[in-house]
Amino acid sequence: MLWNVTTTEYLTSGHMACPGCGASLSLRHALKVLGGQTIVVLPACCMSIIAGAFPSSAFSVPLLHVPFATAAACASGVRRSLLAQGKKGVSVMVWAGDGGTFDIGLQALSGAAERHEDFIYVCYDNEAYMNTGIQRSSATPQGAWTTTTPAGKELQYEKKDVIAIVKAHAPAYLATANIAYPDDFMAKFERARDLSGFRFLHLLSACPPGWKIDSSEALHISRLAVETGIFPLLEQDEEKNLRLTYVPQSWLPVAAYFQAQGRFKGLAEEDIDFLQQETERKIAAYG
Ligand code: SF4
Repeated sequence: MLWNVTTTEYLTSGHMACPGCGASLSLRHALKVLGGQTIVVLPACCMSIIAGAFPSSAFSVPLLHVPFATAAACASGVRRSLLAQGKKGVSVMVWAGDGGTFDIGLQALSGAAERHEDFIYVCYDNEAYMNTGIQRSSATPQGAWTTTTPAGKELQYEKKDVIAIVKAHAPAYLATANIAYPDDFMAKFERARDLSGFRFLHLLSACPPGWKIDSSEALHISRLAVETGIFPLLEQDEEKNLRLTYVPQSWLPVAAYFQAQGRFKGLAEEDIDFLQQETERKIAAYG
């Protein structure tokens, strides 16, 4: 596909992300779709550092840094302020990590979704608190190493199903995306941009230091997550059911995804067999 993507950069070079950071690549392309009339709301997360310290900024759109738990509440306020001023045509986007979404910001997220607030909420999910040194979050998958994962042989703590939680709020738009599939990624941001109401995108974002992979491997591993069914590409249809937006000719075994990352090196063969069955069960549920 020949992309019609602007050459304007809204996340400029010289930002503070690690090489191979999936979150910064995702943000760069999301902003290209949303355009310069966008206000970004950032809770504490890696992106707070990537953006740079005041008065410098790697963002060339307005940016609001807010306390960890408050991103969705602050975005609600930004939208209502725009409404009060009669300003139209501005996208408001929360850009939060999994800690700020699955854990610390969940209450504000639920409140905004339940009130059908008019903004886009993006969770870039790198599956741990990477910004503060790779501590476990409730988005950390079973069997993944972090500095705070309890040691032991048994698989613990299934990853929280944030998509099911948000779906229960009947959002205007709901999808998963992954920058290793840029056509699908940008089409979903386009659809979210052109709707109103509460819109939620869940992005899997490869993190080389946290996932113990080489920075050159980030996109390859991101693609494996989709090809194995670990992170299926989904979108809510008009009946508000989730459907797959990409189905490979044949699903790869989940072992290909786990064995490519140092954080899963503690997984035993029986764990991988179990996780294979779980993945197949979840994929089958999307029909
Ligand atoms: S720690 Fe991970 S998520 Fe954070 S900037 Fe580095 S690669 Fe990106």
